[in-house]
This record gives sequence, structure tokens and C-alpha cells, in this order.
Amino acid sequence: MITKEFDTIAAISTPLGEGAISIVRMSGSDAVAIANRVFRGTDLAKVASHTINYGHIVDKENLLDEVMTSVFRSPKTFTREDIVEINTHGGIAVTQEILQLLIRQGARLAEPGEFTKRAFLNGRMDLAQAESVMDLIRAKTDKAAQIAVKQLDGSLSHLIGNIRQEILETLAQVEVNIDYPEYDDVETMTSQMLREKTADFEHLLANLLATAKRGKVLREGIKTAIIGRPNVGKSSLLNQLLREEKAIVTDIAGTTRDTISEFANIGGVPLELIDTAGIRETDDIVEKIGVERSVKAMQEADLVLLVLDASEALTEQDLFLTELSKNTKRIILLNKTDLPEKINSSELFDKTVKISALKNQGLDSLSKNISELFFAGDLSASTDDIVLSNARHITLVEQALQALSEANASLAAGLPVDLVQVDITRCWQLLGEITGDAAPDELITQLFSQFCLGK
Ligand code: GDP
Ligand code: ZN
Repeated sequence: MITKEFDTIAAISTPLGEGAISIVRMSGSDAVAIANRVFRGTDLAKVASHTINYGHIVDKENLLDEVMTSVFRSPKTFTREDIVEINTHGGIAVTQEILQLLIRQGARLAEPGEFTKRAFLNGRMDLAQAESVMDLIRAKTDKAAQIAVKQLDGSLSHLIGNIRQEILETLAQVEVNIDYPEYDDVETMTSQMLREKTADFEHLLANLLATAKRGKVLREGIKTAIIGRPNVGKSSLLNQLLREEKAIVTDIAGTTRDTISEFANIGGVPLELIDTAGIRETDDIVEKIGVERSVKAMQEADLVLLVLDASEALTEQDLFLTELSKNTKRIILLNKTDLPEKINSSELFDKTVKISALKNQGLDSLSKNISELFFAGDLSASTDDIVLSNARHITLVEQALQALSEANASLAAGLPVDLVQVDITRCWQLLGEITGDAAPDELITQLFSQFCLGK
């Protein structure tokens, strides 16, 4: 078994902080033996697999903590190795102490992502699945988590595997044709077959790539700029958006992000609100640097929410901002519709959405409009299908498509079949990097290092 080649690793698997319980996790063939050296209770070497055992952790004669220790024996574990999990409740200091103790007893401190890396190296999951573990940890919304779970169950890998298999069969067929040139006109026949096949593959990959944009949006959020002249209600809208979903707005541990962006979840659509600090500032400042700031936010944005005051006539500044944002996906919001309407909105051309930030009205129709703009209204379909959402996968599929189109160009130019073969082989290899079947070692090391510690 491959698992014998690895040493035993240990890490704290729960987020560092004042939780009620922390878990120190070990994986490797010595995990049980090492735990046994510091655990007083039952003999862990003798307990059945997948059991939780009550006892104490002791350092020489020093009692460190009262714990519950789980023993999971290879191969039915996350890493396919023996795993021991010590559930402590003594806070950060004690948890760290227990970890240090295990290291003194022969475990090695795990690198970030090393548990998942072992799951991959021991054949428990492929690379795309391992990455989905990471995506799941970082998922900002339910929808994004659903995509990650889907990927974790291997549907993407399965699809990619099927396409690769077909490519391989096609390449084999080319070899056969070349080896038996007694057929008439084998070159013409082969290039005809290749033309049909590459068209098929292109179609499949293009479809997959088409899901990417949606997947990325669901995973990372729609970068949204709220713009509008002073006093139209930007801050009020921001507060409503953030208040709406306070419970779902999460801090993602371990990711450094721009402190001036905040996340909101509007009816399942994740918005990353850009430059919220600017919106929160007093309107004096916004007045002075407003346009410059709006332009900057707009350049970053996937979506612009242009706020207008419906209780006043349109101003020069409104029209200026309307013009400025016309090339970005945008929704014009008529705010303050709880007041008598004075705005001459027929001058705006665009469809508008009426809201009242003060009375918290119209946000549901805002969310409907956003999902129409980004998902053709169909948010649910995106989680049933296979969705390409990981940036690395997207790049690889793009490159694979590029290789196919080069193959096509060569075929069209009547170039020899073996030149075409090279491009198609490259396509096959690139797709293999998604599942890890053809991924170089450095890539694997780099990928897993992005994980949080203890995963
Ligand atoms: P900002 O300068 O664009 O950020 O605008 P604010 O959010 O600070 O709002 C300016 C003023 O308009 C405040 O007095 C708000 O209470 C008020 N306001 C904002 N939204 C509404 C609304 O929907 N209805 C009414 N009646 N007043 C609003
Ligand atoms: Zn404001």
C-alpha cells in the first residue's frame, strides 16, 4: 500500500479561537500508537474502528485535558490512513499544548492541505474533488456550496474522464489507420474522421465553458458598485442589503480580502459590494471625490446599481452617471418611491426598478432583476448541471479548446495527420490536469498549499 510511505501528520483541525471544542487530528500509520502514548483511558490499539473514547491527555504525569478520542482505521477514512481525532475543550492554549505533545511523540506538523493531499495521493479522490473540498471551505453562499458538493461527488471528473477516453479512442483509431495504409486514401479518411471528432469535442468543451461564468459568479459573488449622486440613498440601500442577510454574510477565515468590500446575499445571489467604505463616508467627502470614486468602482464591477431619487427631477449629475455606466451591466434603481414621484424617468430609456431603501421595499424585485441579468432568470438550473467554477479548471478547458481549434485549423489547411495528432494529444493532457491524471508534481504541491491548516 502507498500509505506506508508517509509519516504521521498532526494539526489542529478546527478554527483557532474560543470555540467550545477543538479537534487535533492525526493521520498516518503511527497515529494510534502516538495517541496511545499520551492518552489515559482505554487502550486505543484495542478499540474498534470508528469509535469515540473517553479519557485524559497526560504529559508525563501532568494532566492536560479531559478529552474524547476518535479512532478511524485505514482504509475507510478521509485520508485512507489511520486517523485519530482528539476532541479537546480546554481552549487554544491547551489544544496547542496537546499538538506539541503529539509532535514530541513522533508526529509531524501537517502542512496546509496535507490531509486532503493524502486523500488525493492515496486515491481517495481526484484533484477536482480535492479542490472542491477547498471550495467548500471557502463557499460564501448556499449555492456556491452546492456546486462544490456536486464537484466533490465527482460529476465533473466523470465528464472530463469520458471526454478524455473518447479522445484517446480517436487517437488510437488514427494510429490504426496509419498502421494499415493498405486502405485507399487513408489520409483523407482519417482527416475526415478527425474533423468530425474534434467538432464533437469542441462542442462538449464549449458547453462546459459556458457554465463557467455562472459558476464563477455564484462562487465569488457579483462585483457590484452602488453609485449615485449625494443623498439619493446609497448608504440606506447598502444598509438594507447588508441587514437583509446579516446571518449569511460570513467572514471567510484564512482569505485576505479587500476590507472595503462586503458581501450580501440577495435571494441566493451573492453580491460583493465594492467600496462600501466610500458609501459609508459622509456625503461631504463623497461629493468631493464622488465621480472619481464611482468611475473606479465601476471599472471593477460586474454590475452597477445606479441609484436615483424618484422624489426629485433628474439632475445633470444623474444623467452624467447614467451615461457613464451605460456600458456596464446595470440596474437603475428609483429610490424613495414611498414619497410622491417627481422623476421624469422616461428620459432614461433603461428599465428601472422601484425601491424604497427607507421602507425596505422592492428588494425582491431587485434580486429578480439581477438573476435575470446574470442567469437568464434561472438560478436553480445552475446547481443541477455540472458547473465549471474553479479558475484553474476554467483556464485548462480554455486551453484545451484552443488546442482543438489549432487541430481544426491544421485539418482545414490540409496539414499531415500527425501534426493534428499533436494538438489533440495536448488537449487530452490539459484535460487530465483537471482531474490530476496528468498534473505535474509542482502543481499538486502548490494547489494543496492554498488550503487552510488542518484540512
Ligand atoms: P447617500 O448620500 O446616497 O448615501 O444617501 P443616504 O442613504 O445617506 O440618504 C440620504 C437621505 O435620504 C437620508 O435622510 C435618508 O434617510 C433618506 N432616504 C434614503 N432612502 C430613502 C427612501 O427610500 N425613502 C425616503 N423617504 N427617504 C430615504
Ligand atoms: Zn451616503
